[in-house]
Amino acid sequence: MVDPLTASSPALVLPRHLDSLLQEGIRRRGQGYRGRFAPSPSGPLHRGNLRTALIGWLDARLHGGEWLLRIDDLDAPRNRAGAEEAILADLRWLGLHWDGPPLRQSARRGLYATVLSSLRRSGTLYPCRCSRRMLADISAPHEPLTIYPGLCRGMDPTWGAERGRLPSWRLLLGPGGIAWEERFASAGQLDGPRQVGDIVVRRADGVIAYHLATAVDELALAISDVLRGVDLWSSTGPQVAVMAALGMAPPRYGHVPLWCDARGQRLSKREGAEGLAGYRERGLDAAGVVGDLAASLDLVPVGSRLSAGELLHSLKRSDLERCMRAPQRRGCAGSGERSPGSPNGTVTATGADPAQGSRI
Ligand code: GLU
Repeated sequence: MVDPLTASSPALVLPRHLDSLLQEGIRRRGQGYRGRFAPSPSGPLHRGNLRTALIGWLDARLHGGEWLLRIDDLDAPRNRAGAEEAILADLRWLGLHWDGPPLRQSARRGLYATVLSSLRRSGTLYPCRCSRRMLADISAPHEPLTIYPGLCRGMDPTWGAERGRLPSWRLLLGPGGIAWEERFASAGQLDGPRQVGDIVVRRADGVIAYHLATAVDELALAISDVLRGVDLWSSTGPQVAVMAALGMAPPRYGHVPLWCDARGQRLSKREGAEGLAGYRERGLDAAGVVGDLAASLDLVPVGSRLSAGELLHSLKRSDLERCMRAPQRRGCAGSGERSPGSPNGTVTATGADPAQGSRI
C-alpha cells in the first residue's frame, strides 16, 4: 500500500479554458461585490430562507453590487416538481430581483466534470468504496457531520465498477489548517484532517457532490461574498479546501442567523415550514411580509409595512452588519454551526461533535 500523502503526484494542470475561467473569476470578484442566493429546489422557500434571501439582497444592494440566483438542483431525487418556479415567483413577489438569468447547477455539469478530471490527473482524488450506510455518508447540506476515517486511502485506485458499484471520489486532505474570512464573526478556522477529513467530490451514484459544485461555482461566478445560513458554516471548510486544491483563495463569508421554530429547531423546507403561502393565508401582502422579515431582525418595528426597496433605502451597511453580529440571534439547536463564543472557530454547542467538522 502506498501512502498517498507522501507519494509524489503530478502537479495540478488545468485545461486552458478552465484556468482562464477561474482566473477571470478571481479578477472580477476583486472589482466589486457579487453575491448569490443558492436555494435547492427541494420545496418552497420557508420564512427562514426568505429572510436569508432578503439579507443577501440588501447586503448586495447596499454595496452597490450584483446578486445572482443559483438553483442548486444537482441532487435530482431531492428536487420537487414546481419548486424552482415557486422560488422564482416568491422572490419576484417580494421585490428581490436578481441579476442576470437564474443559473442552474444541472446545466454546469460539464464544468464540474472538467474540474474533477483535472484533480484526478493531479493525484489528489482517490476512489472510495465505503458504503453510504456504513459511514452515513451523504453530500447534502444540513445533514449531521461526519469525518471520513481515510479507510480507502492508498488502496489500489480502480475507478471502475466493482460488483456493479462505482466508487465515490474523495479529495485527499493533507495536514494543516483551513481558514477563511467571516464578515459577522471571527475568522473561520478548521484543522483539515481532524475537523474536515477527505471530502467526497463525486458520489457513488455519479452525482457531483455539493461541496465541489459550490466551490467551483463561487470561483467561476466571481462571487466575492457568500451570505447564507449559519447552519452552513461547517460546509465552508470542505468548500475552501476544494478551492485550495484548485490553487484558489476563497471569497468572504457571512453566515447569517437562522429562524428557529417554537421548539428552537431550524426551519426546514422538507418538513414544510411556513413560507409565503402561510403569510398570504394570514392576509399579509408583500409589504407586510417584508415588514415581518425585517422586524424579526429588529431592523424595523414589529407591524411595519414596507417594500424591499423602501427597506433598502432606510438602511445603512452598518445597520445590517450590526444586526448580523448580534450574538443572541445566532443559531437553533442541532444546526451544525459555529458557536460564536468558542475560540478558533471550533464547532461546538449546537449538537455537533467538536471532533467533527465536515459535511460530505
Ligand atoms: N443549496 C443549499 C441550500 O439550499 C445552500 C447552498 C449554499 O448557500 O451554499 O441549503
